[in-house]
Amino acid sequence: MTEIELLVDFYKNTERQGPGSTSDTLKALDFIDLNKDQKLKIADIGCGSGGQTITLAQNLAGQITAVDLFPEFLEELNVRSADLGFQKRIKTLEKSMEDLQFDNEELDIIWSEGAIYNMGFEAGIKKWRDYLKIGGYLAVSEITWTTDSRPGEIEEFWNSEYPEIDTASNKIKILKENGYSLVGYFVLSQNSWIDNYYKPLEKRFSAFLERHNNSEMAKNIVEEQKEEIRKYHKYKDYYSYGFYIAKKI
Ligand code: SAH
Repeated sequence: MTEIELLVDFYKNTERQGPGSTSDTLKALDFIDLNKDQKLKIADIGCGSGGQTITLAQNLAGQITAVDLFPEFLEELNVRSADLGFQKRIKTLEKSMEDLQFDNEELDIIWSEGAIYNMGFEAGIKKWRDYLKIGGYLAVSEITWTTDSRPGEIEEFWNSEYPEIDTASNKIKILKENGYSLVGYFVLSQNSWIDNYYKPLEKRFSAFLERHNNSEMAKNIVEEQKEEIRKYHKYKDYYSYGFYIAKKI
């Protein structure tokens, strides 16, 4: 197995593949001033197994295209959405977020939780803007510094993991410079990280290692996760996911 295949296996059959919660999704949705009973066209990019996609389907009329690079996650979402009777309204699409083929001004809403970093925040919001109607909305969560300064260890860690990590004011500036107007912003709670994301992951470590006969690669993945969790607990006052809701102007 390659490292990517192992990572997909590690995240398979989890409720979420990143920090977040149903109440965060609903809170972000509240900022969107569109008629939610209307047949809207929505894309959920980097949807994973679709925790938030289901919440969107439950609270918006219209058609959702749920995009992810990995078919394993999309299959899980297809099963979940069929169970709930959403198979006609949630269409999954296996594609890279960098290579989407929506028409210009096709979409009312672009949603993306904990995923835009895969192509980079600025590149993502620039490219995806074309697909949005004027007056359409972008809702993205993105790793964000929550204070103006921070200890060296965590600054260095995140700068090497994801150099685009920044404060909310700088992220909002980038949105404004690229033809969006901010309509809402909030920070994910610590429970969205700990209870909804890290705790369920921690419970999977031993079965994952067993499944892969304690291979070096599997052990490395678990060690890296443990280290990320350790850093989160130590430095959680300095960063979180910010949820940015913005309108295309
Ligand atoms: N939105 C989900 C998943 C977040 S994890 C949640 O909040 O639970 C990030 C997701 O992005 C993963 O499902 C991963 O498979 C997907 N991903 C990574 N690179 C991608 C790419 N280039 N294009 C589309 N999806 C990608």
